[in-house]
Amino acid sequence: MNKRELFLRHVAQTSPAPLAIDIVKAKGSVLRDANGKKYLDLIAGISVCNVGHRHPKVVKAIKKQVDDYMHLLVYGEMVETPQVQYAKWLNDHLPASLNSVYFTNSGAEATEGAMKLAKRVTNRTQIIAFNKSYHGSTQGALSIMGDEYWRNAFRPLLPDVLHLEYDSFNSLQEITAQTACVIAETIQAERGVVTPSAQWMKALRDKCTETGTLLILDEIQTGFGRTGSLWGFEQFNIVPDIVLMGKALGGGMPLGAFIADQKIMQVLTENPVLGHITTFGGHPVCCAAGLAAAKVLVKENIIDQVQSKAALFREMLQHPLIKAVRANGLLIALEFESFEINKKIIDGCLERGLLTDWFLFAPECMRIAPPLTVTEKEIKKAVKTILEVLDSVQGLLP
Ligand code: PLP
Repeated sequence: MNKRELFLRHVAQTSPAPLAIDIVKAKGSVLRDANGKKYLDLIAGISVCNVGHRHPKVVKAIKKQVDDYMHLLVYGEMVETPQVQYAKWLNDHLPASLNSVYFTNSGAEATEGAMKLAKRVTNRTQIIAFNKSYHGSTQGALSIMGDEYWRNAFRPLLPDVLHLEYDSFNSLQEITAQTACVIAETIQAERGVVTPSAQWMKALRDKCTETGTLLILDEIQTGFGRTGSLWGFEQFNIVPDIVLMGKALGGGMPLGAFIADQKIMQVLTENPVLGHITTFGGHPVCCAAGLAAAKVLVKENIIDQVQSKAALFREMLQHPLIKAVRANGLLIALEFESFEINKKIIDGCLERGLLTDWFLFAPECMRIAPPLTVTEKEIKKAVKTILEVLDSVQGLLP
């Protein structure tokens, strides 16, 4: 069996059509496969590698930490310096009320922890989420996923979950004194990049405050500069009660977090004690990597360049096959007529060494979410390739 066959035989598959490319090296925005073919990465491991693949400062921090110690004990027992320093960095870069960090291993676990926290704090059970939202794939996170196609086969799921229409003022009436929390993506990514109005976000915040409901904002895909500000919610002038982080949080290593005010977070230490437990959450190597990446992001003014890079994409991405472009910073959706056309374009790009993708709830949209360190030259090269592929696909259409 060759390596691809071994991969398909021994590594459990849930994708019916995995890319199955054997990557041997990654640096900056470029991946190289076992045959020496290079790929310009326009998806950054799905919004993970915001400072590029293997940034030297991230690699250095990982190596240093590995030389000191790796896993010591379950979460929250030992003083682990990278964890403490990263929690402090996050608190210093968040509004004052988001001052206590619970580190997890993934985004889905952050979602789970936040839902438990909201139920404990409010003594209520109802959880409200939105149609076409994605918060992870574990059973609790799946229960609030905004699409019945994915939920249905796994029922029974969490009870007392209500799904509302995103960015709809009418739907806010459903939030009542029975609601423990409302959980929303700050910008709906997997729907094909949908940004709500600032008025709606403000009304959502107000309604939660009025009913004593906790507002949880999922910044797992939109955090760490992806949208041009450090956190997506800064664009709306509101502060959530709990914020969820993941993906770029670990600088390329697995890390998630739910962050709230210590005043509410402390309910997880009593009745029962150890209200949320994880063996590996906040692993010191992951925290060292994440902190190094976060510092690079801020010190090297990478976020300041996001809007001009996004503008260059938008300016150059003009073609009759493109029906719409929806973007928030470097989270960009190119909408085509159908999934079939999008797939042809994505495959054509891949053949020419350009890695793109579609969105879970918007298969007709191409995902463009490169490392934020992508250069102007790389953007021009990427768009040139996309436009060439669009021309070739257009020639094949009836
Ligand atoms: N929330 C959002 C908005 C996401 O995009 C994702 C992952 O794609 C998650 C949560 C779940 O994160 P993870 O895959 O690390 O469990």
